[in-house]
Amino acid sequence: MPATDTIQIDRIIRSDRRTIALVIDRDGSLTVRAPVSTPDSIINDLVLKKRDWITRKRAELKSRPAPLARQFINGEEFQFLGRTCRLQIVETGNNPAPAIRLGDRLYVPDIFLPDIRVRLKRWYAAEAETVLKARCKQYEVLTGLKPSSVQITGAERRWGSCSPGGRIHFSWRLVMAPPEVIDYVIVHELIHIGQPDHSREFWRKVRDVMPEYKKRRDWLKERGRFLTL
Ligand SMILES: [Zn+2]
Repeated sequence: MPATDTIQIDRIIRSDRRTIALVIDRDGSLTVRAPVSTPDSIINDLVLKKRDWITRKRAELKSRPAPLARQFINGEEFQFLGRTCRLQIVETGNNPAPAIRLGDRLYVPDIFLPDIRVRLKRWYAAEAETVLKARCKQYEVLTGLKPSSVQITGAERRWGSCSPGGRIHFSWRLVMAPPEVIDYVIVHELIHIGQPDHSREFWRKVRDVMPEYKKRRDWLKERGRFLTL
């Protein structure tokens, strides 16, 4: 991969976009997204020009606290729809009930302890299936945009995506976020049905539906990494 002076470019992705974007990923790697015909020299010049910004972003990432490792013990905090729920392991003998949330408690049968992460993920995914699809329906009515399908996936790095043909995917982890943040991701992906890029026009359309979308997007950028199991 090309390196410019001291800045390493980890990935260059050329597509039919119109502008060049530099993206610093969570692991500090640098991705450049550029129009198909952009020569390497233009990309290298831009990266050099943005050297200070890149260095600052990487330093910010390093100084951020990482999510705590899970212990799966009583009282441990889990997020659901932006609320903090405390884990409660319950004795169920040999007749286990499924994991269930009541108010701010998340009850999990002790028999599930050996593979509790998998069990909880399954529970979240089932909730995501109900909650995200129902909310998506509401915004389909509001925007008049209709996806050809809506699926919940195990995507780790993306909250949502919209593929050609209008197939929308949401990560099950999104159901941990506050409802207004969920709605932002839904609107974002619905707008992609008619507008696959992130052009000014795209953001204008998002703003038309959700004037205060930036606050919600920033929440996800800032807090999203804590929405994990
Ligand atoms: Zn997008």
